[in-house]
Amino acid sequence: MLFLGGFGRSGTTLVERLLGELPSVCALGEVVHLWQRDILDDERCGCGVRFSACPFWRPVGELAFGGWANVDVARVHALRAAVERTRHIPRLAAAQQATDEVREYAGYYARVYAAAAEVSGARVVIDSSKHSALAHVLRWADDIDLRVVHVVRDARGVAYSWTKTVARPETDGADEMTRYSPGRSAMLWNAHNAAFGLLARRGVAVHRIRYEQFLADPRAAVRALSAYAEISVRDSDLDFLGPEHADLTVGHSAAGNPMRFFVGRLPLRRDDAWVRALPNGQRRLVGAVCAPLLRAYGYPRKEA
Ligand SMILES: [Zn+2]
Repeated sequence: MLFLGGFGRSGTTLVERLLGELPSVCALGEVVHLWQRDILDDERCGCGVRFSACPFWRPVGELAFGGWANVDVARVHALRAAVERTRHIPRLAAAQQATDEVREYAGYYARVYAAAAEVSGARVVIDSSKHSALAHVLRWADDIDLRVVHVVRDARGVAYSWTKTVARPETDGADEMTRYSPGRSAMLWNAHNAAFGLLARRGVAVHRIRYEQFLADPRAAVRALSAYAEISVRDSDLDFLGPEHADLTVGHSAAGNPMRFFVGRLPLRRDDAWVRALPNGQRRLVGAVCAPLLRAYGYPRKEA
């Protein structure tokens, strides 16, 4: 199980979409939102149809729970509130063994992953839930070979992205994605990224990639991640990737960034709009708040 982690707007959806094109990989989207948005709200799968009508997710639910109707979503939400909060990370990281609640909550995810692997026939399933607290919970899941890909992106680019408005197409335009001020985004960037460092120190496999580097050479990056996930990749498996584009087919991402719906030729280029568009004061603020980790991740003090 490959967990794509990082702070929001760091590029996890694109990384997931590219890995999802590999033959032995099944990309599930942000499973953390499946309970509410899919089981209860019946939002659209990445394939475009409602969750309840999706030919992939229906058998997954049958296999995992005897049907999605059997999932006690209120229980999942209660467990999530009890164990999977960012403020719980120090306690989760320090724990020598899991509480019953942590094990029960992790168990719901483990059943989804196992069923998805069986239905798809894939060797590797990807959950791009991002949340560091969930990654800390999943280290206690039974029968999961958990490998984390920690995706980092320059905090100033992330901050700029959070100031922009993005509609959520799965709700037919009724809803917009969250927005954060640059100051708030910088604080969260620090906390979420640091949490993955903590996870690595607990012995979980954590492989960090820089989104900007990933885009600079997507073929090499996908190859490197395949090696990390122990997937063998032939040259022809990478035919969907050009130097500056990816040809994406339909996927069954359960939830996440609107890019999960994209099918066709997607241009791959660095989005450096923030260099021009993020006001100087905000850029300096974010650069200062995030300076230690930006340096640790190899980002230049001045923007690239
Ligand atoms: Zn689907």
